[in-house]
Amino acid sequence: MNLFDLKGKVAVITGGNGGIGLGMAQGIASLGAAIVIAGRNEEKAADALKALRDMGAEASFIAADVTKKAECQALIASAIQKHGRVDILVNNAGTSVRKMPQDLSEDEWHHVLDTNVTSAFLCSQAAYPAVVKAGGGKMINIGSMMSLFGAPYATAYCASKGGIVQMTRAMATAWAKDNIQVNAVLPGWIDTDLTKRARQQVQGLHDSVEKRTPHGRWGTPEDMAGIAAFLASSASDFVTGTAIPVDGGFSIAM
Ligand code: NDP
Repeated sequence: MNLFDLKGKVAVITGGNGGIGLGMAQGIASLGAAIVIAGRNEEKAADALKALRDMGAEASFIAADVTKKAECQALIASAIQKHGRVDILVNNAGTSVRKMPQDLSEDEWHHVLDTNVTSAFLCSQAAYPAVVKAGGGKMINIGSMMSLFGAPYATAYCASKGGIVQMTRAMATAWAKDNIQVNAVLPGWIDTDLTKRARQQVQGLHDSVEKRTPHGRWGTPEDMAGIAAFLASSASDFVTGTAIPVDGGFSIAM
């Protein structure tokens, strides 16, 4: 029995062209799966593809704006055309607008909700028939510490990441009959483009994260590889509907 063998499987990772998505793509690729990274920025994708191919993975990039239903459907159709099947979907694309609730515009609210949670719904719905056809598979949704905690500058982000957890639970109950496990990962504070901007905008964030995190440091995209490998592989076949923090202990520290 090899619990961690993904040879012959195909994984689609939204926002897999950088940051946490690339870290997760590398974790899944290390078990032998072919990788499709989806996003908008082709330049970033070229570097990500190189990193994946350097580790021996079969990898491709498909340009998609995952806030649009037609592009989510085209993404899955192209992944099947290129690689023959889809077994694993990681809904990782995300963004943030950091403003107090009274200053957040309706457009900004929708932009964050569309990017962080509606996209996950649309891509999961698009991938579902292919994953059923593959005999079952894995869907992994990316939440946040803001799935658990509030922050004054993160109203829309908190709503979207709380929503990811509940959407995960609902889909896990719906699709267990199809042998699909749906789980969420709640990253702690990880050093990426997104949090570089956060550290510019939120005074004292860098130090306060280090201080509160029992492991005493920010996470790296590589720290996300292991949980992705676990949740994408048959090691997690009886794990569904969970929301697993990967945070160096941030969420359990007083
Ligand atoms: P990045 O900004 O590095 O990555 C975000 C990714 O999402 C990019 O690759 C981007 O690709 C993609 N993306 C954004 N909007 C769209 C869109 N409309 N269509 C397609 N792709 C899109 O940030 P992170 O790696 O930090 O974030 C990844 C996920 O992890 C997000 O969901 C974020 O909320 C979550 N997260 C991050 C934490 C952290 O500390 N960094 C903590 C907790 C959660 P492109 O530029 O090509 O569009």
